[in-house]
Amino acid sequence: MREKTIRPGRIAARIIAVLVIGAVLLATCVLPSSRVEEPNLISEYIERVYTTLYGREATLEEFQGWYRDLKDGQVTPSGMVDAEVQKVLGTDEEVNLTKLLDAVSMVMTDQPLPESQKDTYQTYLNRGVSIRRVISDLSKTDAFFDVCYRYQMSPYGLDKLEMRDQDPQVTMYVYDLLTEVINDHPATAEECNEWCTRFVNGEGIAPVVAEAVKQRAEAQDKGDVILDEAQLTLLYRVLTGQEISADQMQVCQDALGNGMSDSYVLAMICETYAYIHHVEELGLVPGEVKLTEPRDANYEMTGLMNRLYGAFAGQKPTGEELNGYVQQLSDDPGQLRTVVVEMLTSTECQALIESDEAFLQKVYEVFYERVPEEREIESYLIGMSHGITRERVLAEILKDPAFDEKMAEYGIDSKVTPKIPEKVIALTFDDGPYTPVTMRILDALEPYGAHATFFVVGNRIHNYSECIIREVNLGCEVGDHTWSHQTLTRLNGEGVSSAINQCADAVYELTGIRPTVMRPCGGSYNSTVSANVGMPMILWSIDTNDWKYKDSQHVINEVLNYAKDGDIVLMHDLYETTADAVEVIVPALEEEGYTLVTISELAEYKQIEMEKGKAYFSMRGGN
Ligand code: ZN
Repeated sequence: MREKTIRPGRIAARIIAVLVIGAVLLATCVLPSSRVEEPNLISEYIERVYTTLYGREATLEEFQGWYRDLKDGQVTPSGMVDAEVQKVLGTDEEVNLTKLLDAVSMVMTDQPLPESQKDTYQTYLNRGVSIRRVISDLSKTDAFFDVCYRYQMSPYGLDKLEMRDQDPQVTMYVYDLLTEVINDHPATAEECNEWCTRFVNGEGIAPVVAEAVKQRAEAQDKGDVILDEAQLTLLYRVLTGQEISADQMQVCQDALGNGMSDSYVLAMICETYAYIHHVEELGLVPGEVKLTEPRDANYEMTGLMNRLYGAFAGQKPTGEELNGYVQQLSDDPGQLRTVVVEMLTSTECQALIESDEAFLQKVYEVFYERVPEEREIESYLIGMSHGITRERVLAEILKDPAFDEKMAEYGIDSKVTPKIPEKVIALTFDDGPYTPVTMRILDALEPYGAHATFFVVGNRIHNYSECIIREVNLGCEVGDHTWSHQTLTRLNGEGVSSAINQCADAVYELTGIRPTVMRPCGGSYNSTVSANVGMPMILWSIDTNDWKYKDSQHVINEVLNYAKDGDIVLMHDLYETTADAVEVIVPALEEEGYTLVTISELAEYKQIEMEKGKAYFSMRGGN
């Protein structure tokens, strides 16, 4: 803090002045009718003020007004100077502050303001302190006491200073805050007073600044880029009274680059020693920035989401988008893969990457930091060329444990055990696809995100390929039901193998995915089938006989009356009555708390390692 250069007058001078005022009151009992007829010391002082400040004499009216007040002690000599100065400042004409300061000093001390003080006061005045502060300071000088003594008046100073005049250092700090950060325009005297009062009375500074920065960002509709380098520099300087270092600037910019909000960066600045020390030294309260946005609560996750989004969309996500993703993951960290898939396959992220191959290369580059080998992406490209979505493919690629390693680099544990549903059931459909029925079944599953398994007949795939593509895109499983619905027990080993592989090849050529489960036609199998089928054989625990009765109510009853956790239900996507039944069964099972899963998911949830050639009827209790 700067030392005050103007010192209070000596006590002796004060005592003399008090004695003098008594004498003055006695001497001037009568108000003079004009200053010419009856000149005295008070009228000389009035003339002194007018000639020095205005370069003219006071009018009779002005003279009489001041004479009475000065004589009655209603106004002190410094009070009169203050009042006249306010008048000067109140006019519309531009005021030369340097000249005004000198004039005030001349009136009060007989000399211009010393050069050493001119700069100080000039700075005060430029940064929100009023000229009353100068008058108050001058009224405490020996020189002013001498002047008062000469005119035989009491030198008492200004008794009431505005808040902004009480501590110029505080006012200058508040003025800069208002002008540079809070207002975006030079602070007015009223604003200075208001905010000085609030801060001096203990309101924390940080929250006020945070709110202002937020509002300014909203007003400018700039989203997140309000704090650029220039603004950070300014903000830091205003808040801490120091220049920001290169290191500190880097930390701030890294945070913004990682998608953290302006408030987060502001909170970082408001936690620095420089800020807290500076504000406390002024006798003010630093306060804290309250962080309310989800993305501010999880630095690592926000940084990751921001970078992934940027890598795929070629632009930063909005703060709102980031908040959404981070919020979702804070609620359930096990959703990381799902959220990443959802984010990277959003319209914005897909728009920039036109070719599927480029998309796949991007995925490998971002997640695994390498170029994929041709054979790795060949199957995905097959599927995508027939309409398998990038979303589905990405979900598949991210199942790789390497994903978890990559996430660990970001400080994120993605190996959260997925929630195991309480009750699971696998609906299965044989002998399709058949568009009029299969599509209706998929329509029934889709709103619930429900999955089922379709054991398809190979030679039907070409004619109804759109069904298979949609099955895959909805997360359903395509199982093998032989090429032409052969009864496998009538075939030799080679025949079994060929019937299965022909179907599997057809599924692969369309979707890029090989079936991993099969169902023997008619449910018949023997040791030759087991030995050559090359996949687990999936039978059933609930037979709806939909093909026999073609009665939807019968199917509904069979399923809803007998369903248990772990069941495998047999139906056929060939009959309209089956589709009718499924439209009732799916919501009803969901209502009962079942999660509808594929055969592979069922095995996963029940922790069953399915074996090739082994028959599975249900997964109720470990089979
Ligand atoms: Zn069949």
